[in-house]
Amino acid sequence: MSQRRAGHVNRCPNCRINNFFCICSELSTFEIQSNVSLIVHVSELKLTSNTAQFVEKLLPDQAQIFIRGRVNDHFSPEPVLARSGRPLFLFPDEHSLELNEDFIATYPGPYNLIVPDGNWNQAKQVKKRESKFDDIPTVKLPAGLVGEYKLRRAPRPNWVSTYEAVAYALGILESKKSEDHLMAFFRKWVHATLQARSGDFSLKKELISQD
Ligand SMILES: [Zn+2]
Repeated sequence: MSQRRAGHVNRCPNCRINNFFCICSELSTFEIQSNVSLIVHVSELKLTSNTAQFVEKLLPDQAQIFIRGRVNDHFSPEPVLARSGRPLFLFPDEHSLELNEDFIATYPGPYNLIVPDGNWNQAKQVKKRESKFDDIPTVKLPAGLVGEYKLRRAPRPNWVSTYEAVAYALGILESKKSEDHLMAFFRKWVHATLQARSGDFSLKKELISQD
């Protein structure tokens, strides 16, 4: 059996990293005031590199994944819009408002942060196809954020993964502590995934928890 094949067989069903590098013990849940609604395409959800799943794992009470693109189960925006909190659609378009202190003062929370997962085009499609999202203000992250996501090639400069986008947005909408909690796990997950992909099993697992 090749190492790649072996890696697949020995994958943790929860974090989907090779069991040797399983990161599940680092998944510490916490609570926030706002809801996070992640709209994820069914094909993206299958990828081990999909980051949206981890937002739900760390925020089990507030974060929820809504799946689109299923063959016999049409995506409906109603359940997303029915969630409590001021709805915000995280997507940088020509009307989007920057998330910052002024924004919070003008539009106080708690929020229902709606986040389309995937690349720029996929996110754009979600907004375009669902007219019910038209009345919701679009918001964007402050300029200058650089993603740490090293697993997939970034489609644009300054691109951040869905997980990082949520972490940075909650850092403004909720607290810096929320951002730090999410990013601490993210760095461990990226590290563990890169280790597992490198196929270097000679390193002791304990090294993962040390940064
Ligand atoms: Zn695991």
